[in-house]
Amino acid sequence: MSDNYDVIVIGAGHNGLVCANILAKKNRKVLICEARDNCGGLLEESITNFVPQIPMSVSSSLGGLPVKYKAKSSIALSESGQHIRLVGNQHIDHKVISGFSSKDADRYVEFHDKMSSFSKALGSFMMASPPRIMNNTFSDYFKLFKLGMNVRMLGKKKFNEFARMIGLNIADELEDNFENTLLQGLIAHDAVLGSNLGPRSPGSLINLLFRMATHDNSIFGGIYEIDGGSKAFVDTLLDISNKNKVEIKTSSSVKRCITENDKAVGVELHNGEKIYAKKIISNADPRSTYFSLLGTENLDTDVKRRIKHHRSKGKVAKLSLSLNKQPEFINCDKDDLESRMVIAPSIDYIEEAFNPSKFDKLSMEPILEMKLKNSDQSNPALDIQVQYASYGAQEGWDNIKDNYVDAVIKLIEKYAPDIQSCIETKAIVTPDDIEKNFHVTGGHWHHGEIQIDQLFMLRPIPGASQYRTHLDGLYMCGAGTHPGGGLTGIPGRNAAQAILEDA
Ligand SMILES: Cc1cc2nc3c(=O)[nH]c(=O)nc-3n(C[C@H](O)[C@H](O)[C@H](O)COP(=O)(O)OP(=O)(O)OC[C@H]3O[C@@H](n4cnc5c(N)ncnc54)[C@H](O)[C@@H]3O)c2cc1C
Repeated sequence: MSDNYDVIVIGAGHNGLVCANILAKKNRKVLICEARDNCGGLLEESITNFVPQIPMSVSSSLGGLPVKYKAKSSIALSESGQHIRLVGNQHIDHKVISGFSSKDADRYVEFHDKMSSFSKALGSFMMASPPRIMNNTFSDYFKLFKLGMNVRMLGKKKFNEFARMIGLNIADELEDNFENTLLQGLIAHDAVLGSNLGPRSPGSLINLLFRMATHDNSIFGGIYEIDGGSKAFVDTLLDISNKNKVEIKTSSSVKRCITENDKAVGVELHNGEKIYAKKIISNADPRSTYFSLLGTENLDTDVKRRIKHHRSKGKVAKLSLSLNKQPEFINCDKDDLESRMVIAPSIDYIEEAFNPSKFDKLSMEPILEMKLKNSDQSNPALDIQVQYASYGAQEGWDNIKDNYVDAVIKLIEKYAPDIQSCIETKAIVTPDDIEKNFHVTGGHWHHGEIQIDQLFMLRPIPGASQYRTHLDGLYMCGAGTHPGGGLTGIPGRNAAQAILEDA
């Protein structure tokens, strides 16, 4: 049997495209098989809103990634019109918060410095595959030692503080520091966005640190809009793929990996076509990779159990409203409307929205992150991330969708009273829709929870946290691997490194 390709990548999400191109630049003959009829996966206007910037180490591995970003500030909306707008610059933010509480303003600077130094210590670990302690090798122990040193270098006091905070919930930390509930709500929103956590859930603090590590180590900085939208980003990746001679087959869903002598040697498409390669890389989520592509018959009981318990129930739906005119948000000027607008007015509000989701039910008052698009044109639109829209909602999404959309619009009405009259069309994509249409189990933002037992050396599961699966020749490069999801390209880049190391 001859290998037609050096590498087959299953999935053309942005991580699959990044991984494929880094390998192609190293003279590998690469084919991508994508199930959908287009590329980019979740990188789509109907899904993503605000993004972090692709790190330099990812773009330089690609020989440059000419994508332009616009930095965005964040505004916490208040029903009273007393909104807080923060830009991620400590000097400016201090001044803004002083207008509400001078104590909070000073504490904010201290809190930001502390969180920023912790996220930098974690961030230094993001660009490499985590160590594999079971290996007992010098390089793996050295990696772990380096991480320990990065945190230890913070100094004894900060090290102790880091150790204290790591498993904490964000609510305790915010309530200890701030009195303004709107500010608390805005920070807590970012700590839980995309996760199955409430602000009082242990681990919500590390979620925020992980987010900060990919958002310029800032709480409210590092939030961007892509110039030209998601399509411009995907087109850029496709141009690069073209230059690097990466072949892409769309509408080519992979049914399973072909194995020989306990090694992945190719893929079989759902149409029966078989294609062979020396290495196979899955951009699909961990559960699909193990249960569908690898197949339970190839897994031992322990691995099967771990994947079965891998947590990936999505909690975010995306609601897109096309508008015939720009809505009037109470007490908002042009700059405010161009910001990331958040409805999460307090920690208690968020926790109440979270509570029903523990039982896979829906809160009719969820938390929202909104982006007003084309505000100066005749076709404005409002894109809304709706947090705590549970995957597999007990109410049944088919029964409840319309009522749920109406409830979200009613909620927005409290902040923009004329919103109803501005709406032309409404479309919601739920986690169940994402599972079905984007092939992501549970429709999860990160292809799996970012929680202490699914992080670093444990992501997605022990024994597969270095982008290598339990099957020789089969790798993973998607958001389900270290360090997780969001538009960073880091998993794709790290996976390519791991494959090149094994060559
Ligand atoms: C509702 C929602 C909103 C989000 N909003 C934001 C946001 O505003 N900002 C942000 O930074 N991040 C956001 N994210 C997260 C971000 O979109 C993802 O983490 C990221 O896009 C994942 O990229 P990926 O390449 O790893 O995987 P994906 O984009 O999921 O790509 C995987 C690809 O693999 C393909 N595939 C799967 N199985 C097969 C198969 N068997 N055969 C062939 N192809 C297959 C899929 O079709 C898909 O194209 C959001 C996520 C969700 C769910």
